[in-house]
Amino acid sequence: MDEEKTPGPADTVAAARDGQDEPATLMDTFFASVREGLIVYDHELRYRVWNRYMEDLSGRTAPEVLGRRAVEVFPHLHEQGVDRLLLRALAGETVEVRDVSYVHPATGAVKWYTGTYAPHRDGRGRVLGVVACIHETTERRRIEERLLHDALHDPLTGLSNRAFFVDRLRLALERVRRHPERPFAVLYLDLDRFKVINDSMGHDSGDRVLQALGTRLARGLRASDTLARLGGDEFAFLLEEVEGLGDATRAAARLLREVARPLTVEGQEVFVSGSIGIAMGGPAYTRAEELLRDADIAMYRAKGGGRGRHQVFDPSMHERAVELLRLENDLRRALTTGGMQLHYQPIFSLETGRPVAVEALARWPHEGRGLVSPDDFIALAEETGLILPLGQWSLREACRQLRRWRRGRGADSLLLTVNLSARHFSHDTLPTEVATALAEAGLDGSALALEITERSIIEDTARASAVVGALKKLGVRLYIDDFGTGYSSLSSLHRFPIDGLKIDRSFVAGLGAGGDADEIVRTVLLLARSLGMEAIAEGVETSQQLVRLRELGCRLAQGHLLARPLPAEAIEELLLS
Ligand code: C2E
Ligand code: CA
Ligand code: CA
Repeated sequence: MDEEKTPGPADTVAAARDGQDEPATLMDTFFASVREGLIVYDHELRYRVWNRYMEDLSGRTAPEVLGRRAVEVFPHLHEQGVDRLLLRALAGETVEVRDVSYVHPATGAVKWYTGTYAPHRDGRGRVLGVVACIHETTERRRIEERLLHDALHDPLTGLSNRAFFVDRLRLALERVRRHPERPFAVLYLDLDRFKVINDSMGHDSGDRVLQALGTRLARGLRASDTLARLGGDEFAFLLEEVEGLGDATRAAARLLREVARPLTVEGQEVFVSGSIGIAMGGPAYTRAEELLRDADIAMYRAKGGGRGRHQVFDPSMHERAVELLRLENDLRRALTTGGMQLHYQPIFSLETGRPVAVEALARWPHEGRGLVSPDDFIALAEETGLILPLGQWSLREACRQLRRWRRGRGADSLLLTVNLSARHFSHDTLPTEVATALAEAGLDGSALALEITERSIIEDTARASAVVGALKKLGVRLYIDDFGTGYSSLSSLHRFPIDGLKIDRSFVAGLGAGGDADEIVRTVLLLARSLGMEAIAEGVETSQQLVRLRELGCRLAQGHLLARPLPAEAIEELLLS
């Protein structure tokens, strides 16, 4: 390094800036007007030039800095390692600094800059000092930070998003691979029936609920934990270094209590509950997504076991989930490729002994599993939304079949009943679907009765009455299926124009056994009569039950004793016999 002080342009300019009465040189004007920070340091890293831009950027004027050493004036240079780069420049190297931060002394605002430090040499190549060119990057930094923040956060709640969460999971997995003795836990929270809140209060209020919950959940977290909103009404927690499963389940129970505390949204008290699935992160996992998936599977299991619960993942759940997924795919395929069938079970008049109606019951012949019963696939269909195409198909197929029977003999006044899930019943397009199915088959609305459950009419009475109104206009009848097992009130029965009640087979099964069944069946028959409805006894299996039903005044019955569900051709024979 050059110890001797050699005069150079830097000294000229510094002198010119210091001297009050000398006229501005061309250099001086240039230094003052350029929109870059220009600095010249001497060989002891004292400031020799400090232009106007640097004054604006730093809030320190030239007289304040000139002649003083860099790190004395600006401690941040040392804190951020810039002083070492300056020394390298003095040693003859050109270096760049990126994203140095600086707090403006007057405004307290954080500024960012980038710069180049180059050795300043004399004619013989000896280094006299350093020249620096500085550019402020605060705005770019701000935009980058904003973008980064947005990319990793959920705009609604301000919580981390899925991308950020998965990234944290990856880090946690790396850590646990090195320290298997310190597991972590992933908690997957899904709100129960959040759709009801959205539908009843509106989406804006739904958003407020999610925000309020997000804030509440974030409060209880340790600094090392991560909470993210994964989307919709789903949240996930990463709890670092838990002692074991006990810690995780205790945390889950506490979080569920937090979720269940009433919220006030727009002056209204709102009650929500949630279900949590727990997966423990250990060295057995290699991918973050697998962990999240398993917590999700456990969450579904928690929901299935009743709401407001938590459930810990175990590998058998995964097998079951895969199995369900396969079944779902098969069902989807069956629905689109004509792989479904309908069987029909007659309903008999106990007065004439003749079938007066047939109930269409879905059958799914499955390659590997044989004939899969609706009890095994209706729930799956409801969960996956396949219940809509299934219901639509049943309606059309059953109507077409009735048309075929009616072309033959003995079916002129035969009534067709079709089961409809509550989910399908609340669908706006149902009346149109029914009208289309009837029209395609050339049938009158009076040929059809829909079997709905009590749930269909109590869950959303406003929508139900619109659907019921439209169906009634078509002349379609409505039966309540499995009557007595739900919670329909007398008033809802009275409010809706219901045409018939199907007495659940559990009551029929109990007839004559000395329990409550006789009394219940008698009451339902009485109720039906007084409301002007039909009553149909389901699941009649023994002649004793049939005798008892007759004694009680029941006029319509269905069950294995009378006829099992049969393929369409067998029904045709039965009608002719
Ligand atoms: P459900 O509407 O109560 O239908 C009566 C069920 O009881 C049928 O079972 C029938 O085969 C069975 N059953 C009839 N008589 C007797 C009897 O004497 N004893 C006994 N133990 N059982 C009898 P299945 O066909 O397995 O259907 C089960 C349920 O699946 C039905 O109950 C219905 O809720 C639903 N389901 C069937 N097909 C459809 C469909 O196309 N759409 C919808 N949404 N649901 C359907
Ligand atoms: Ca039924
Ligand atoms: Ca039933």
